[in-house]
Amino acid sequence: MSTDLTERALSVYAPSAEFAAQANAQASLYQEAEEDRDAFWAKQARRLHWHTPFSEVLDWSEAPVAKWFADGKLNVAYNCVDRHVESGHGDQVAIQWEGEPGDSRALTYSDLLAEVSKAANYLTELGMQPGDRVAIYMPMIPEAIVAMLACARLGLTHSVVFAGFSSSALRSRIDDAAAKLVITTDGQFRRGKPAPLKAAVDDAIGGDTPAPSVEHVLVVRRTGQDTPWQDGRDVWWHETVEQASDQHEAQAFDAEHPLFLLYTSGTTGKPKGIVHTSGGYLTQASYTHDVVFDHKPGKDVYWCTADIGWVTGHSYIVYGPLSNRATQVVYEGTPNSPNEHRHFEVIEKYGVTIYYTAPTLIRTFMKWGREIPDAHNLSTLRLLGTVGEPINPEAWRWYHEVFGHGRCPIVDTWWQTETGAIMISPLPGVTECKPGSAMAPLPGISVQIVDDEARTVERGATEANGYLAVDKPWPSMLRGIWGDMQRFKDTYWSRFAEQGYYFAGDGAKFDEDGAIWVLGRVDDVMNISGHRISTAEVESALVGHEAVAEAAVIGASDETTGQAIVAFVILRQGVENTGDELVADMRAAVAKDIGAIAKPRDIYVVPELPKTRSGKIMRRLLRDVAEGRELGDTSTLVDPAVVESLRQK
Ligand code: ATP
Ligand code: MG
Repeated sequence: MSTDLTERALSVYAPSAEFAAQANAQASLYQEAEEDRDAFWAKQARRLHWHTPFSEVLDWSEAPVAKWFADGKLNVAYNCVDRHVESGHGDQVAIQWEGEPGDSRALTYSDLLAEVSKAANYLTELGMQPGDRVAIYMPMIPEAIVAMLACARLGLTHSVVFAGFSSSALRSRIDDAAAKLVITTDGQFRRGKPAPLKAAVDDAIGGDTPAPSVEHVLVVRRTGQDTPWQDGRDVWWHETVEQASDQHEAQAFDAEHPLFLLYTSGTTGKPKGIVHTSGGYLTQASYTHDVVFDHKPGKDVYWCTADIGWVTGHSYIVYGPLSNRATQVVYEGTPNSPNEHRHFEVIEKYGVTIYYTAPTLIRTFMKWGREIPDAHNLSTLRLLGTVGEPINPEAWRWYHEVFGHGRCPIVDTWWQTETGAIMISPLPGVTECKPGSAMAPLPGISVQIVDDEARTVERGATEANGYLAVDKPWPSMLRGIWGDMQRFKDTYWSRFAEQGYYFAGDGAKFDEDGAIWVLGRVDDVMNISGHRISTAEVESALVGHEAVAEAAVIGASDETTGQAIVAFVILRQGVENTGDELVADMRAAVAKDIGAIAKPRDIYVVPELPKTRSGKIMRRLLRDVAEGRELGDTSTLVDPAVVESLRQK
């Protein structure tokens, strides 16, 4: 398949001289890391405060379980809070919180220290011991971040469960981790209305078969609504944490002490409890937040729109930014409450300079139309980022122009729950970017693209779609799947066992300049009459058509071609559906962009696509629909009814 990658490669966006002159990252970082990786990572680790300095960097003798900085001791929360107060920045705003109904709160680093200390004192009083697991099931309010940091401070391992998940999804995660404590709220605001949350916790852990591990439920009052209550088990945050002492001394823990468990988003199957530890994780979260976002403490106003229920919220709302003394916006609600102007109003109100979001949201903004961003002053923005899916070049350019007015570098960051922090991304001020490409591994990171026989694909071999593999251990790598080391080995380390590479599960290719194009999940690469075509490329071609806002493409089994391409598309606002004529036009657009072989057999115009709560299209369900199969696990879907309505079609 000779794709349009070559054509796309022609539009290269070089960094401006002004940006480059002030950038945190320098081109020399690549060479520095190449010359001595261990020395490079040791230097990055020294950004942090170590109660006991480490003397060894990497121990890979028990591969695939790495140990980084193993004889060092640190406290993750101390690094994110106390040391900024101690260095004289207690009055700097850490969290500029914006509630969905329009309430707001600013917490300085001193405030955060007091809150985290109180929570740590109360959790200690509850009898929580280092290594105990705590489930956090909360909306995006400051107490959620305080709860995470209090756990980190005490060496408790948190497991944040997205507050949009059902009680059964919560229960399976509580049981899997044997959590002793659940921290939640009475309710949460969703599109202007209070919705119960504590009631879901009761459903999850109470009833006829109570969760055996849970001793207490700690409840923050957010909405003030009536809440079911079990005396002895349930406690109010304002009656306990808020009354506790705000003095607490942080103890140091081993660098390999488990910091958190996080279940993957379930796009490909049953969620896995990914285990992350402390020193290496914080090192890479902190380093990447600094160089990829070009973050300047005390100057920037940073906003990552993710939820703390996802790894992006862990690494780029909590641990990365706070370890780097960021001032950041935390927003509780959805981008369209009360209307589609909300995100732009927030950018204007707080003077946001760095904005990090997901391609799905950018495509949603495109669908709503550029009049909305154009109605706001976005001139404070100086850097834009994306994560979660390949970004279509069309969406990249729109983001660049409409958000960034052509002025802001875009960092397309590839990483996973498993990798803990960003792995592949441009360095702003250094990298010449190609829209749709995550470009190159960061300094200190090494990846390979390998073929079916696990042979390394050379740069420039543009015809070959390969598998993305990480060939050298990295500090924030996962240390296992909770309670299932066999699944850990099978899932990530068996595919390239001989080479000892980590199998990321994503397809990728190098273009002739050596830029990396992530093509989506390996499961999402189709085989059409022997041609391997990625869903991401066909989707990009469709989204390049003026009528299309969003597209999901799958390979459905086909008697003649092996697989046939089936597309589901959402039209842009205001576009009239002219039926066959429009469909023919879209097929022609794909043929022109990629080749006739990539023309979808069927194109369905639909009002919605099945998405995970983290905003990713669940293609495996669309395959189930297209092939008339029973649906797989739908527990992480936003709205299971969407698939049903597609099935009717
Ligand atoms: P599960 O592993 O349970 O199927 P998931 O892979 O969606 O769920 P995450 O860890 O949240 O869970 O997502 C990581 C995946 O997201 C990557 O493997 C990749 O497929 C995709 N991804 C993330 N960032 C990018 C990016 N910049 N470009 C392309 N794909 C990306
Ligand atoms: Mg995954």
